[in-house]
Amino acid sequence: MSFGLPNFFGFAYSEDQLLVLRLLKESKKRGGSKVILMSAPAFVVDFDYKDFCPLMKGLGFDKVTELTFGAKIVNTCYRKYIKENKDKQEKFIATVCPSSVELIKNRYPYLKRFLLPFDSPMVAMAKVLKKNYPKHKIVFTSPCSAKKIEAKKAFYKKKQLIDAVITFSELKQIIAKERPKKKKVCHKFDSFYNDYTKIYPLSGGLGATLNKKGILKESEVVSTDGHKRLSRIMEKNLNKTFFDVLFCDGGCIGGNGVSSKLPIVLRKKRVLDYRNLSKRESMDGNHGLNKYFRGIDFSRKFD
Ligand code: SF4
Repeated sequence: MSFGLPNFFGFAYSEDQLLVLRLLKESKKRGGSKVILMSAPAFVVDFDYKDFCPLMKGLGFDKVTELTFGAKIVNTCYRKYIKENKDKQEKFIATVCPSSVELIKNRYPYLKRFLLPFDSPMVAMAKVLKKNYPKHKIVFTSPCSAKKIEAKKAFYKKKQLIDAVITFSELKQIIAKERPKKKKVCHKFDSFYNDYTKIYPLSGGLGATLNKKGILKESEVVSTDGHKRLSRIMEKNLNKTFFDVLFCDGGCIGGNGVSSKLPIVLRKKRVLDYRNLSKRESMDGNHGLNKYFRGIDFSRKFD
């Protein structure tokens, strides 16, 4: 692997790509911090599931994990909060998507008080990783350039939580240029959980995985995607309780950091196929344990 100079391959690396390559290079030095790659579940839109971990480990990541455990934690926080506050609060708006949060804060400030005060799955998962691998650096890859801004504001024990964020498009460029050899390792993630939340990047994925029984009726939930529809819903003052909102058309699979040119319906199919495939994979008994996140504060404020 060359970690070569910009422009060698017909394009210039972005600052974020260079930062990731530098972290990987430093991890190879004696005493250097190893690097975890944390991937958003939409990765299957741009990468082959079975190739992903061997390829990323070939690139130099020490561990490759996904967000599903973070998403599960967020779901648990939402459920508990809605249950405890439903009598005194009329609406609850999901805060997993940074662009939706910014839109609501800036255009509909009177709705800000309904934003659910919890970390996004990216931040929740990064906190879990930092607790369990305190010396590792964390790189996040996703379909979303807005996550770069969100990550800059995320801290754990007063230190920057996520060291670098690159989009899937940027990661694909790195792979194309550096041409890592696939490491002969298991294709499975270094996961904390194998979870149904793999459909989180789809429109309605959060609402579908929230386990609403006893808390919310199906008719009290509205799921929407795309900033125009999101704006319409916010302006209409709908008589709904839980708002599962994503800014991009189709959800995160329509994010601006996706490289794929497939139509949304086929991207969605890739996520569903992946969910179905991974459901059949066996897990060891150490998945989803409380000890992985005990003591972590997943709350946040929107001031
Ligand atoms: S919907 Fe779009 S902006 Fe929101 S988190 Fe997903 S990719 Fe990012």
